[in-house]
This record gives sequence, structure tokens and C-alpha cells, in this order.
Amino acid sequence: MPHLNPEQWVDFALNLTTPADRAALQRHLDGCESCRAAVEVFRRAAAAGAAQANLEVPSAAVELALSIFPARPEPEFSWRSLRRLTARLVYNSLTDPLPDGVREIRTAGPQLMYQSGDYFIDLRLDAEHSSAGVLLIGQILRRGSLESGLGSVPVLLFSGKKEMMRTESDEFGEFCLQYTPKRGTRLCVPLSASGGRIEISLNPFLAAKNA
Ligand SMILES: [Zn+2]
Repeated sequence: MPHLNPEQWVDFALNLTTPADRAALQRHLDGCESCRAAVEVFRRAAAAGAAQANLEVPSAAVELALSIFPARPEPEFSWRSLRRLTARLVYNSLTDPLPDGVREIRTAGPQLMYQSGDYFIDLRLDAEHSSAGVLLIGQILRRGSLESGLGSVPVLLFSGKKEMMRTESDEFGEFCLQYTPKRGTRLCVPLSASGGRIEISLNPFLAAKNA
């Protein structure tokens, strides 16, 4: 396994790594002195930060700060504040031939793969699965995250500005939504770690299927 990037080690030092990733990272650490040194630095920085969090701040200073910066309640879920990331369609089973050596998996609807930076979103749309609407099965992956999924992230469906439903991906980044298509149905995946949200319009593919 090659050295990991600092972000992954920061997550590791802060215990934010998924158990599966953690085991693999620990194996790498056991055999790699330079990464061990890096983790030690991140652990110390985290400990220093934690110590500061326990500092007693004089109440006069708190009152002064509050008078300058009035407290505002945090919005319940701030995906709107994330900038929109462009997602490129890199594979569409309706139009693209399969790469050599890849066996075709027959699904009732299209299979699509989107890419945005280091993130990939794999979607399967199945409109024949149920009379109630569309079954959407997806997986969110990040390049270089040890071939595993991204872990749990929120996944939302919108029609225009209205939220239709939301779910969360599981530890492998997989999610499943069953919905009735509406005008302008789109998938929104807020990735707070990257400071952005991926939005994908779903209607064109169902239209193509029904045509
Ligand atoms: Zn290393």
C-alpha cells in the first residue's frame, strides 16, 4: 500500500476513520515509519486543540464577544451553503459500450456513473421494479479511500426547490430510494468534507427509457 495523504491520517488521528479503513491504515502504520511520525504530529496537534477547548474564558470576555457577534442558531442542515460541484457523466449504459472484459449486468433501467473531482456516484434506475415509481440504487465512492465507500452521507431528492425525501448512505456509501418521479427530480449529495454538493438531474434518463 502506498503512503496515504495527510487528510486520511488526520481522520485517523481524530478517530474519524471507519473500522474497516482503520484496520488497513493500522497495518500500513505498523510497517511505515514516516507515516507513524506524521500521525504522531497530528495526534499531538489534536491533543493541544482539546486542551484549549477546556480553557476557562472569563465571562466578561464572553459577554463582549457576544455583543460583537450575536449568536445565530445553526440551520438544521446547511447543505444549501455548500457550493455546487459539477458532476460529469462518465458512463451511461444506454449509450456507452461496456469496456472490454466487463460483463453486462442486465438491469431494467439505465446504469450511470458520475464523477466530480475525486468522487464517483454510481446510479441504477429501475422503473419496472414497482408500480409505485422508480427504484434508485446508488453508491458514492471516493478515489483512493481504500476501495471502500465513503461512509454515511446524506442523500436527498428534490423536485425544484422542494425536498421530496432524504436518506443516508450506509458505511459502504450505498443508498436506495424509491420515489415517484416529478418534474425536475434531482439527486443532491452534500459532501461537507469537500465543501460542496453534487447535484444530478434524474429525469432525462427516465424519459430516454420510456421513449
Ligand atoms: Zn507510509
